[in-house]
Amino acid sequence: MKLVIISNRLPLKISKDGNGRHSIVPSEGGLTTGLDSLKTSVGKYWVGWPGMYVENPKEKEAINQELLKHNFYPVYLSPRQIENFYEGYCNSVLWPLCHYFFSYIQYDNKYWEAYKEINALFCAEALKIIEPDDIVWIQDYQLMLLPQMLRENNLDISIGYFHHIPFPSYELFRTLSERADILNGLLGADLIGFHTHDYMRHFISAVYRVLKLDCHLDEIYLEDRVVNVDAFPMGINYDMFYNALDNPRISKKAQKFRSDFGDGKLILSVDRLDYSKGILIRLTSFMNFLENNPRYRKNVSLVMIVAPSRDHVGKYAGLKDEIDKTVGAINAKYRTMNWTPIYYFYRSYPFEDLAAFYHVSDIALVTPLRDGMNLVAKEYLAAKRDQPGVLILSEMAGAANELSDAIIVNPNNARDMENAIKQALEMPVEEQIQTMSALQEIVSVQTVSQWAKDFLDELKSVKEKNRHLQRKNIIEPDFDDIKKAYNFSRNRLLILDYDGTLVNFQDNPLKATPPAGLLDLLEKLSCDSKNRIEICSGRNKNILEKWFGHLPIGLSAEHGVYFKEDGIWHQQAPKIEWDDEILHIIMRITKRTPKSRIEIKDTAIVWHYRNVDPWLVNMRITQLIDALITPCSRSNLQIVKGNKIIEVKTSEVNKGIETERLLSEKKYDFILAMGDDTTDEDMFRALPANAYTIKIGEHYTAARYRLSEPVYVIEFLKKLLS
Ligand code: UDP
Repeated sequence: MKLVIISNRLPLKISKDGNGRHSIVPSEGGLTTGLDSLKTSVGKYWVGWPGMYVENPKEKEAINQELLKHNFYPVYLSPRQIENFYEGYCNSVLWPLCHYFFSYIQYDNKYWEAYKEINALFCAEALKIIEPDDIVWIQDYQLMLLPQMLRENNLDISIGYFHHIPFPSYELFRTLSERADILNGLLGADLIGFHTHDYMRHFISAVYRVLKLDCHLDEIYLEDRVVNVDAFPMGINYDMFYNALDNPRISKKAQKFRSDFGDGKLILSVDRLDYSKGILIRLTSFMNFLENNPRYRKNVSLVMIVAPSRDHVGKYAGLKDEIDKTVGAINAKYRTMNWTPIYYFYRSYPFEDLAAFYHVSDIALVTPLRDGMNLVAKEYLAAKRDQPGVLILSEMAGAANELSDAIIVNPNNARDMENAIKQALEMPVEEQIQTMSALQEIVSVQTVSQWAKDFLDELKSVKEKNRHLQRKNIIEPDFDDIKKAYNFSRNRLLILDYDGTLVNFQDNPLKATPPAGLLDLLEKLSCDSKNRIEICSGRNKNILEKWFGHLPIGLSAEHGVYFKEDGIWHQQAPKIEWDDEILHIIMRITKRTPKSRIEIKDTAIVWHYRNVDPWLVNMRITQLIDALITPCSRSNLQIVKGNKIIEVKTSEVNKGIETERLLSEKKYDFILAMGDDTTDEDMFRALPANAYTIKIGEHYTAARYRLSEPVYVIEFLKKLLS
């Protein structure tokens, strides 16, 4: 077993010396640190683009040999591929979409073709080293098709995917032409991670709306497995930033910066050049602050570091021009002979400089318009150590979820940011230290190592759950055992649920009539005098009588309240005179919920919501259950959640009790029970351990085996008969 990380870029820098020899330096920080610190005995391998294109085969081989020394496996991309895949679909479509810059999307069909092509290329390269039992962890939005591409190879591996940028709300995501392909690609993973619960919620909402899949809480149900979705907020290497100032070189730098910037207060902002970072509106708010608070002029400066990024691309070059102009205009307007309002650096600083900048800054102004997480905010907190300091943080950064004690601002509101700057400057030192220490506590615990560990631990447990589920799948030897037991037995009991087991669910339950093939099969099964067949359903007795009354089989209706034996219907619990209050509650919810329906039976009322919008349904279920609890407990009624239904029913009988009745009548040497719903679990539990209990569907169950769909149930029963 080994851990294989797949990301668009390999974390390294390649340089060439005077003799043409390449040397490779792995990059520090971020994901690399998180993974390095993992206390795992398994080997770690990394697949990704090395950041360069090499044509000469000899040179390529030499680089590959160097990369291998670090367990790096390169995926080489040509300039055309970089243009259409990386610059194209990744950064001109997905990046603006996920950051809510819809109008910045530049779409071209060839971008999507390249995205598919490169994901397939990563898949092919990764498969060269992936072996059964490996853990594969795919990183970020450049590789959203890769999880499914890997899964299609049917290797027994664990696949995790982490999305490092925001996942947009469904209303935005639905605009993407390839929305279904992207979601299906991601669902190849066993576990999909996001920085925050909001992104996770948006993703699940897109899955059930676009793909119409069954989702419950953090689980998405596919035909043969469950995909888990969860939030894992990424952290930093806290110790590295906290301890930075122990390094004499860094503390010297800090002292120098402090004296170079003069006596005034320092506000720091650090970003990559990107429209999502909100740099222009931040400048406007700082300018307004100076304009409206003249007493702070000469006493406060903004140190603005913008790390160059993609500035050969039109939008980015335009943004840079705007920033240059705005900074120039503000400085020109307010500067004095011995005070500079904005120190603007358009360059990338190494760790040591950055740590020194963080340490000497009184305020960090971190105001992205959208940001998956934002690590700068966390790095600032760590590098401040026990010094006072204030973090102003955008509510649109993922980090705001954890760092709610910071001054939280709406980055679209210049007035809000202006006020926050004033509030930060005027915050008493005592309060600064207190807040700082509370925030540091959070960042020091949820580090990047913890993040990686949490994700991989969860991946392991999800995989285990899926393996457990799949172990229940009926495979050839299981079937042979069941068939053998069937053939050798003389007194057989077969209890079959109807909807979701013998037939698929229909939008209109009255349309779920038994097809002729099923009736024929039941008839053949019942012709064998060794067989006792019972259809045990939640349906009412009239409909069961209409559909199956002509067959020599047992029927039980309303989960066992009524049963038919030897042609006569019996009743195990009294008919209920429905309480007006209960009826009124369910009718009111039905009326207010388009596409829902009410069904009134003798001993149960069912609220059906199969076709209702999932968001609305979640709200209505909570409202319905809240309203029903008191009247139902007063009348000793049960509230049961079934497959797309909420049922209020008698607590006197359930499928378990009906099963016990069947067992008490005769001794059987072969028992088979099949069902798909929560109510069928009562039946499974009531049966002896040697009974063949089969769950239909993906949910966890007390049954011994599972089949995924009714079509396989029919196939199974036919084979049993043959
Ligand atoms: N960074 C850096 N040098 C710079 C500016 C930024 O090394 O001059 C680093 C910074 O320390 C942080 C990362 O770049 O770790 C930026 O991460 P963040 O999550 O804040 O934003 P992203 O650029 O990933 O959107």
